[in-house]
Amino acid sequence: MECDVAVLGGGPGGYTAAIRAAQLGAKSVCIEKAPELGGTCLRIGCIPTKAWVQTAFAIKEAEHTFVKLGVQVGAPSLDFATANEWKAGVVKQMTDGVASLFKANGVEWLKGAGRFKDANTIAVEGGEDVTFKHAIIATGSFPLIPPIEGIDSSRCVDSERLLAQSEVPKRLVVLGGGIIGCEFASIFNRFGSEVTIIEMLPKLIPMEDAAASAELAKQFEKRGLTLHLEKQVTKVEDSGSALTVHFGDGEMTEADLMLVSVGRGPFVDNLGLEEIGVEFDKRKGIAADEHRRTTVDHIYAVGDCAGYWQLAHTAFREGEVAAENTMGHEAVVDNRGVPRPIYTDPEIAAVGLTEAEAREQYGDDVEVGVFPWVANARAVMQNETVGWVKSIHESRYGELLGVVMVGPHVTDLIEAGVVALDAESTVETVADGMTAHPTLSEGIKEAGLVALGRAIHLPNRKRAKATA
Ligand SMILES: Cc1cc2nc3c(=O)[nH]c(=O)nc-3n(C[C@H](O)[C@H](O)[C@H](O)COP(=O)(O)OP(=O)(O)OC[C@H]3O[C@@H](n4cnc5c(N)ncnc54)[C@H](O)[C@@H]3O)c2cc1C
Repeated sequence: MECDVAVLGGGPGGYTAAIRAAQLGAKSVCIEKAPELGGTCLRIGCIPTKAWVQTAFAIKEAEHTFVKLGVQVGAPSLDFATANEWKAGVVKQMTDGVASLFKANGVEWLKGAGRFKDANTIAVEGGEDVTFKHAIIATGSFPLIPPIEGIDSSRCVDSERLLAQSEVPKRLVVLGGGIIGCEFASIFNRFGSEVTIIEMLPKLIPMEDAAASAELAKQFEKRGLTLHLEKQVTKVEDSGSALTVHFGDGEMTEADLMLVSVGRGPFVDNLGLEEIGVEFDKRKGIAADEHRRTTVDHIYAVGDCAGYWQLAHTAFREGEVAAENTMGHEAVVDNRGVPRPIYTDPEIAAVGLTEAEAREQYGDDVEVGVFPWVANARAVMQNETVGWVKSIHESRYGELLGVVMVGPHVTDLIEAGVVALDAESTVETVADGMTAHPTLSEGIKEAGLVALGRAIHLPNRKRAKATA
């Protein structure tokens, strides 16, 4: 088969690229080996995880909020089978959606594993070869498993296998306090598991704003999760009915299941990349420039296989950019306004620099304002007052450098910060603009006002204490 653009992998990076190329007039094919389109995100990542987050949130509402608001429904209990049906239904709707978008845009889906035969041909397992003018590699990533004695036990699972559980483990150990580990820890705590997180670094979500990480750790501990920071798992023993997880300096804990969530590696093996001269690093993935072009001019790479971020929305954008470049456009990826959503409870969302990064880059020319949700009417009426919004700007020109939020619906709210940063707004633009009242979105404006020393809705102009 001949085509203009061949896309290897049908996840967020690949399916977006294939559709965008077709929109621009290309004969576009997408080679995907899994039985459904959508990749990690739709099948075994973002979508099923957040369907469970929704179940966890419903339990919380029923436990802590309904009665306060005058709604009597009795004590909630989890029907895990129904929660899993709901999750599967959401996933199916999304993956089917991608298949119909392919049809609507005239993208052909070739089912099977692909491998480069030469710089203009991909061999598809069980199918015919695809000859292309341009290719976009979007093969994604896989969970890393650290070399720990006993970790090959069937009770040590990755995120995909945790999502496939039909019973809630009584005791869950989460190895790795990064985003995926913390999201599952948050979910299973609401589902009734005793959850223990073991993280070798001194904080949860190590790359995120220190105050946001600290707030999450505080709220997790309040909710009864056990945190062991700066501790490494050294050995796992499976007795046949439970696990003993050894960590730190001779400490141990018992568990029914252990989630191994220590990071993901790029899918670069067995694709024939060496043979065609596409450079890659086994840890960092495929080398690609801001056009998403690899070391072979007509071959591009997007998403987790070639990315620093490992996020669905960076993969989406990179897919669009690569497809446009294959069709003769001049598109680049701008990483300034990448939102960093974390769907724990409380949620975290950030964009731009963390406070520590801002101080490192701008020294004393940094102003920060923190607005707590407890001073926001909508948060109060929702019974969701944990957390705050932090606005970070440089004081010479007032340029907004970052927004960090912890609290209700912040993964939705962060888009305001993304637009502001993309537009290179000043803090005044944010603070002087109007926000609908009463809404949570007021928190962002209010944080800007605090940063400028003009807070109206706080008892005094003192900065709240959430700075790092
Ligand atoms: C548990 C979990 C939760 C997550 N939650 C979020 C979230 O809330 N928000 C967010 O932004 N990100 C989240 N992510 C990350 C997100 O899923 C990834 O960043 C995103 O899926 C990357 O898209 P991609 O297209 O690069 O790769 P993938 O989605 O991994 O897709 C790659 C596709 O390529 C296929 N493939 C690989 N090799 C071949 C081959 N040789 N031939 C044919 N097909 C091949 C694979 O089968 C796969 O379908 C989460 C990840 C996990 C694991």
